[in-house]
Amino acid sequence: MKTVGVLALQGDFEAHRRAIEDEGGRAVEVRSASELDACDGLIVPGGESTTMLKLLEIEQLTEPLRAFAAKKPVFGTCAGAILLAQHVTHPEQSSLQLMDIDVERNAYGRQINSCIAHIDTAEGEVEAVFIRAPKIRRVGPTGRVLATFGKDPVWVMDGRHMVTTFHPELSAGSRVHRRFLQSL
Ligand code: GLN
Repeated sequence: MKTVGVLALQGDFEAHRRAIEDEGGRAVEVRSASELDACDGLIVPGGESTTMLKLLEIEQLTEPLRAFAAKKPVFGTCAGAILLAQHVTHPEQSSLQLMDIDVERNAYGRQINSCIAHIDTAEGEVEAVFIRAPKIRRVGPTGRVLATFGKDPVWVMDGRHMVTTFHPELSAGSRVHRRFLQSL
């Protein structure tokens, strides 16, 4: 059985652990480089991307995570997607640059900064929970869009990595987590 690590520095990592277990996978919380070594893939959860970047530095996990991503799949949701992007705006912020996408933070504005939608995806209809979500403003030539909401890509793969701007871990029977498990 494949082991999925869930980065557990901040944010909603517990829901990801349950979502992976519900899909028949093994999930472990990751707070150190040695815990990362034992994983076949890693989820970077939602939360607050600025805080998560700082905690990665403090825990000396930035370089180990980059080295891990050079060999194994990483899946980022919401703040996790912001961390994986190439370029981040609103405001500008550094990132791990694991995928060729650009994102704008908190891009839905105040009025609809959170909502639940039902969207068509490459894996069928999925409930998508958006919470102060970013928008993916650019997808590079190697990227594959697996779902859109309105005109915006909300589930994108690039090479072995993928992101969603919504929170699939908050919906029952996550097809997104199933797809990630299958990719390991
Ligand atoms: N708005 C957060 C950020 O910019 C992301 C929100 C989330 O992960 N639900 O980091």
